[in-house]
Amino acid sequence: MGDGPPVNALIMRGAEPAAAMRQRTAELIDDLIRRGGRSPQLGTLLVGDNPSALAYRTSIVRTFARLGIAHRPRDLPASIDSADFLAALASMNADDEITGILVLMPLPAHLPAALVFENLSALKDVDGITPTNAGRLHMGLPSLRPSTPQGGIELLDHYGIPLEGTRAVVIGRSNVVGRPLASLLTQRHATVTICHRRTRDLAAICREAELICVAAGSPGLLTAEMVTAGATVVDFGVNAVADGIVGDVAFAAVAEVASAITPVPGGTGPVTALVLARNTVAAGFAAHEGTLDALWQTPPFDRVR
Ligand code: ADP
Repeated sequence: MGDGPPVNALIMRGAEPAAAMRQRTAELIDDLIRRGGRSPQLGTLLVGDNPSALAYRTSIVRTFARLGIAHRPRDLPASIDSADFLAALASMNADDEITGILVLMPLPAHLPAALVFENLSALKDVDGITPTNAGRLHMGLPSLRPSTPQGGIELLDHYGIPLEGTRAVVIGRSNVVGRPLASLLTQRHATVTICHRRTRDLAAICREAELICVAAGSPGLLTAEMVTAGATVVDFGVNAVADGIVGDVAFAAVAEVASAITPVPGGTGPVTALVLARNTVAAGFAAHEGTLDALWQTPPFDRVR
């Protein structure tokens, strides 16, 4: 965030919807217990000590403590082999006290993320990365949705940013942010272009957009010249630099042309952790009934039924 030139844009802060989201999650926990479900608990698995993974776990610890949701961290050495890693994951899958599992990314290079996609229980998959949840998301069935893109949509909704009919650009096509975000925006009737490293003339494509969402992991990627006056900009970037965390957007300059923008930190990040917490409770419903269809009773699906 700059303290230089004046900022004209609406600054969309995650703290704004946070109170209502915490309240709704507390009600959901009560509802789960009333129905005879177990108290929700998140198991996190950290392999090694990657700084982005550590930063995310720190924010999870804070958010879950505040909500009173149990969190059981498990740390594994970076040198662990895939058989031992899979055994640790299997023991969490089998543990009835754990309703949600999050494997912190990135994993060390010798452990492909696909090991997690293919071996994590879909009912406990609180970041929506298994083929079951991803497939259900893309088909519009209730699923555990990736927290980051779902949080971004809820932040836009909180600030009343219209999505229907909007020309939206998503920069990034990862399985946890870009791709599911494009799917969610399409379900909300936006017209979505997905951009990535091989996109030709990214700037020209961005300039046609009314909504630009950046999840590329590249500090300063989106510059003011790429943004048409009045566009909305959502920054999902979490880049560890010497003096903290920065996003993917050149904030100070873009805030002068955009009509609304998320800061980093303090924008999408806090909402991500809250959606993860809510997903942990929602997974408690799924565990209790033994099916992802139980998610019809939990946000965001309970609102559309
Ligand atoms: P995340 O988990 O935040 O989505 P990943 O590192 O998994 O991040 O994925 C980064 C995505 O961003 C990839 O899809 C990649 O193609 C895209 N990307 C990275 N750098 C650029 C760039 N300079 N221009 C356009 N797309 C980019």
